Amino acid sequence: MKLFFCRFMAMVLTGLFASAVHATVVVYSARNEQLIKPLFDAYTRETGIAVKFITDKEGPLLARLKAEGANTPADMLMTVDAGNLWQAAQEDLLQPVVSATLRQNIPSHLRDPGNQWFGLSVRARTVVYNPVKVKPSELSSYEDLAASRWKGRLCLRTSKKVYNQSLVAMLITEHGEDKAEKIVKGWIDNLATTPFPDDTKAMEAVAAGICDVTLVNTYYFGRLMEKKPDLPLALFWPNQKLKDPTAGVHVNISGAGITRYAKNKGEAIKLLEWLSSAKAQNLYADINLEYPANPAIKPSLQVTAWGDFKQNTNPISEAGRLQVKATMLMDRVGYK
Ligand code: FE
Repeated sequence: MKLFFCRFMAMVLTGLFASAVHATVVVYSARNEQLIKPLFDAYTRETGIAVKFITDKEGPLLARLKAEGANTPADMLMTVDAGNLWQAAQEDLLQPVVSATLRQNIPSHLRDPGNQWFGLSVRARTVVYNPVKVKPSELSSYEDLAASRWKGRLCLRTSKKVYNQSLVAMLITEHGEDKAEKIVKGWIDNLATTPFPDDTKAMEAVAAGICDVTLVNTYYFGRLMEKKPDLPLALFWPNQKLKDPTAGVHVNISGAGITRYAKNKGEAIKLLEWLSSAKAQNLYADINLEYPANPAIKPSLQVTAWGDFKQNTNPISEAGRLQVKATMLMDRVGYK
């Protein structure tokens, strides 16, 4: 009896030890707690694997990863914008992940060609206009907003935000630097007022009649219209002529990669694969009114109501590669 008890206790202790050693993933997240906690809770419920996380802005998180080096407790970095993920890979903070699941679930234009990061949700940066002042038939493309008939009618967010740097980087991919510069110069010539610190303020200016059109990520539109449904604002999907090589709405991602010195690499890859799966994709995208990165999954009803659109399918990694060029271009044309 005594021997049996000892064996039993040994088994219990071994079990506890094993779970303590293997069943945790540590995430550094630039996405805030309210967006990721429900997701990680669901993962832990399903798998028994605990997810510890800290949240901060991407700058401090990258600095922390760099400073911690091989001693970092982080297994996964989660952030928004391909520009930021590309930067993390560039600074050697991530490692390649070979995963058939991720390759299958995430389209190639939404992940790093070197497999160091993967898009998990898609954000569309599109046109928002004031329907009292603009007919949708007057709108067509990002490029067209550089035409002189939009003089004094355009509002933009500041060029300091990575979203706009990525957008301009993608214009360089499509048009080359000279033509992209002419387009962005045209936008600046058409500004009604100095650029705004955020997308919401730019839309409020459109609603207030200060300008007629702006460019924003759709989840900001969704949030603002939830609060103030009577604002005169509407979404437009530009560049939908499908034969055009520049076709498609500009999209960016929020995504994640496995850190270079991950201690729980296997567990972290499992979490990343789970985040790309049907179960997690709805939760991950819906909670911030974004689009699932996995094309097999439909967006929420609220987001679906904004209508279908074709995405631009140029590799989003270009947003990182051309970020410095984009920033210099914006500087040259006086985009503040
Ligand atoms: Fe945002």
